[in-house]
Amino acid sequence: MSETPIPPPLTGDDLTADSAPVAYEVANGVAYVTLNRPEYRNAQNSVMTYSLDAAFVRAVDDAAVKVIVLRANGKHFSAGHDIGTPERDFHVRYPNTASLYWDHTDRSGGDQRLAREIEVYVGMCRRWREIPKPVIAQVHGACIAGGLMLAWICDFIVASDDAFFSDPVARMGIPGVEYFAHAFVLGPRRAKELLFTGKRFTAAQAADWGMVNHVVPRDDLQSTVDGIAAEIAEMPQLGLALCKKAVNICEDQMGLRNAMNSVFGWHHFAHSANAEADGDSLGGMDARSMKASAGGGA
Ligand code: ZN
Repeated sequence: MSETPIPPPLTGDDLTADSAPVAYEVANGVAYVTLNRPEYRNAQNSVMTYSLDAAFVRAVDDAAVKVIVLRANGKHFSAGHDIGTPERDFHVRYPNTASLYWDHTDRSGGDQRLAREIEVYVGMCRRWREIPKPVIAQVHGACIAGGLMLAWICDFIVASDDAFFSDPVARMGIPGVEYFAHAFVLGPRRAKELLFTGKRFTAAQAADWGMVNHVVPRDDLQSTVDGIAAEIAEMPQLGLALCKKAVNICEDQMGLRNAMNSVFGWHHFAHSANAEADGDSLGGMDARSMKASAGGGA
């Protein structure tokens, strides 16, 4: 099976509404990595995932970059994984980058799902969490399901007051998205309520609960993030890398990594149980029905 080349990240000058899945630019020691499928609310297909990875590699390799900002073009940060746009590309082979595992495209059933999700979901998210430079999530609008995964792998989140969050995949019979950090970033009881109901929560609530660091008016979002990034950029690069590693080690000592490994097994049991029951690993839900069940509007 042939491999599909990954489009390179764009420069700021190239950025138009639908030009490529990720845009990349550097200013004042800050790399801005911008999700760029606004017509699909930045739903993450594989080419977006690999473009994101290419952008992060470029930012890590550029010694002049001290801080990375992950943000989004369009009305929303991300509606989650692509489960229904015309450019959904789960069947396309990309060279595995995050995992040493076989490619999923010539496998079937649970073997295929596991191979793909080890690479593009859990593998990529863990790889990005370990980026040795501070990564700030700049979130506005919807940040749903797989969108949470992108925000959570960042070191902290700055959100506009119109941002909202949810993980509604219990509707698919699935215990949360693949990168299962819920109990750690929300606290166990709020995580349960939010998983049980699938309800949206606001940026203000997320800040109250410690998931989001700052909530600001939408018009102030970029300048707030720029200001924080500029302060961080004054610090020595190695110091930043080691501080990040220190806190990540603590989270792992608190059980994040082991919990995620274990829950990932239940996640795949859910996909397989769905597939066994009705032939659809997503429990008969698609992007439209998920949106409708969440109350629409996103
Ligand atoms: Zn999954």
